[in-house]
Amino acid sequence: MARYDFVIAGAGLVGLSAALALTRQGLKGLIFDHGLAPSGASATTQVLGLDRSPRVSAINPVSVNFLTQLGVDPAFFDQAGCAVSGMTVWDGDGSGELSLPSAGYIIENHRLLNAVFNAICQPSIAEALTQQFEVGIVDLQQNDATVSITLTTGETIESGLLIGADGSASRTRDLLGIRSVAWRYDQTALVCVSETALPHQGIARQSFTPEGPLAFLPLPEPNHSVLVWSSTQAQAQLSCSDKEFSAMVSVHSARALGSVTAIGARAVFPLQQQHAIRYTKGRSVLVGDAAHSIHPLAGQGLNLGFADVIGLSQAIENLRLDQRQSLSEALRRYEAQRRPVNLRMTAATDLLKRVFDPPSPLLRLARSTGMRWLQDQTRLKEALSLAAAGHL
Ligand SMILES: Cc1cc2nc3c(=O)[nH]c(=O)nc-3n(C[C@H](O)[C@H](O)[C@H](O)COP(=O)(O)OP(=O)(O)OC[C@H]3O[C@@H](n4cnc5c(N)ncnc54)[C@H](O)[C@@H]3O)c2cc1C
Repeated sequence: MARYDFVIAGAGLVGLSAALALTRQGLKGLIFDHGLAPSGASATTQVLGLDRSPRVSAINPVSVNFLTQLGVDPAFFDQAGCAVSGMTVWDGDGSGELSLPSAGYIIENHRLLNAVFNAICQPSIAEALTQQFEVGIVDLQQNDATVSITLTTGETIESGLLIGADGSASRTRDLLGIRSVAWRYDQTALVCVSETALPHQGIARQSFTPEGPLAFLPLPEPNHSVLVWSSTQAQAQLSCSDKEFSAMVSVHSARALGSVTAIGARAVFPLQQQHAIRYTKGRSVLVGDAAHSIHPLAGQGLNLGFADVIGLSQAIENLRLDQRQSLSEALRRYEAQRRPVNLRMTAATDLLKRVFDPPSPLLRLARSTGMRWLQDQTRLKEALSLAAAGHL
C-alpha cells in the first residue's frame, strides 16, 4: 500500500498551495482532485485580443508574499493581474462615500491556479509530490499512527496527515464527522467582464445598491473591470438582454466609472457563509473553504485560506523542530490560531452584509452617516486598510 507523509483532498488554490508549502519542507505527499488538472478558464471573454475570465480574486500583500515564497515568479502578479492602489465604497443613493488606500492585486482565478500549478510541476517538487486528477475520496479511517484513505479508483492509501482542502461542500469534512454551521443569503453573486467609459485607475470600487453590493474589480486594461453583483435579483439580471443589463449597471456606476457595457457571459454563484465547528480531528485537518466560506463582499475568502496554509505549515515545521509534541497537538495549535481570526472575519463580513442589505430608511441614514464619519478618521482607516491587507 502506498504511504505518504501527507495527502491533500482538493487541488484548488488552497490545496495546491498547501502541497507546495509542505513539499518545500521536505515532506512527501499526494494531492488529488475530482476535477480535471488546471488548464484554463471555462467561460472567457475576448478583451483586446486576450481571454479574460469573470472569476477574479482580490489577493492581499500577505498572500502575494506567501505565493512568491512558494515559488510563484514575483513578476507574474504584475504581468497577469491589476495592481490595486485603493478602494472606494459608496452608498447607491449618493449620500455617503468612503475611500481607503489598498494594496495587492486583482487576478483571474484560472491564471493564479495555473501559476501555482506550474510551480508544483517543477522537477524538484514533482519528484516528492504525486498528483491525481478525476479522483475523489470515498472513505477514511484513522488511528494514532496513520490515516487510511479510500479513493474512487478503489485504491487505499496511507498517510501521516490528511488535509481536507475540498471546498465548501467538503466530503472530507463529512467523512470526519465534523459539523459546520451554515447560513444562506437571499443573494446570488453575478459576475461579468465589463467595459467602462472612464478608466478604473487601479481602484476597486463597490456601490451599495438596493439589490445588494455591486463591485467593480479592475482588470489590467484601463477601461475593463469584472463586476460582481451580490444581488437579490440575479435571476432577472441573468436573463435580461446585454443592453438592459448594461443600463441597469450604469445607473450605479455613473458617478465613478461612467456608463458600463457588459461584455461576455454572465455567471452566477449562490452565496452562503459556513464555518466548521472544529478544524481538526486526529491526524486530519481542514483548510480554506472546507473550514470556512464567507460572502465575497469583503474579498477575503481566498486570503483566509492562504493564511490557513501559512499557519498549518508553521505548526508542522514546529513539530519537526520539537518532536516532544504530537501531530494532533500541533493541529490543535493551528486550529487555536486560525479559527478565532476566521470567525472574526466571518462575523465582520456578516455584519457588513446585514448593514448594507436593502436597508430600512433608518439603517440607510446610519450607514451614510457612518461612512461620512469614517471618511475623516485617518487612524481607523489605516487600521481597516491593514486588516484588508492581511496584516491584522
Ligand atoms: C463571486 C465570488 C467572488 C470571490 N472573490 C474573492 C476575492 O476577491 N478574494 C478572496 O480572497 N476570495 C474571494 N472569493 C472566495 C474564494 O473564491 C474562495 O474562498 C476560494 O476559492 C476557496 O479556495 P479553496 O481552494 O479552499 O476551495 P475551492 O476553490 O472550492 O477548491 C476546492 C477543490 O476541491 C475539489 N473537490 C471538491 N470535492 C472533492 C472531492 N470529494 N474529492 C476531491 N476533490 C474535491 C474541487 O474540484 C476543487 O478543485 C470569492 C468567491 C466568490 C463566489
